[in-house]
Amino acid sequence: MDCLFCKMVKGEIDTKKVYEDEKIFAFEDINPQAPVHILIIPKKHFASLNEMEEGDKELVGHMFFIAAKIAKDKDIAESGYRTVFNTNKGAGQAVFHLHMHLLGGRQLSWPPG
Ligand code: 5GP
Ligand code: ZN
Repeated sequence: MDCLFCKMVKGEIDTKKVYEDEKIFAFEDINPQAPVHILIIPKKHFASLNEMEEGDKELVGHMFFIAAKIAKDKDIAESGYRTVFNTNKGAGQAVFHLHMHLLGGRQLSWPPG
């Protein structure tokens, strides 16, 4: 399968890695929309939340747990941050390997565009 994020997990494409364990991988976004913009992905490929199965609940929960840990490490936990999953084109999803955006380090507006 020709998936950009799977290639990153396998180390076939260079990334600025922030975190890795047996289940997930996190790296800096190539086109940051905030001073801190990190992508957190499962090593296992699935395209979006629409493909999430019952057995993935712990994995996605772990992604949130690690997002909070990275936010603390990057010193944005107190100032504030946003975690976002874009699902399908209408929400702006461009890469179809599940990923959580972790954004912070500036005032974030609401509602998002
Ligand atoms: P989406 O729009 O699918 O929710 O988010 C995809 C994200 O992946 C975008 O923020 C985009 O900047 C990032 N991205 C796309 N290609 C690359 C890449 O080659 N390397 C890195 N580090 N990020 C990428
Ligand atoms: Zn993939």
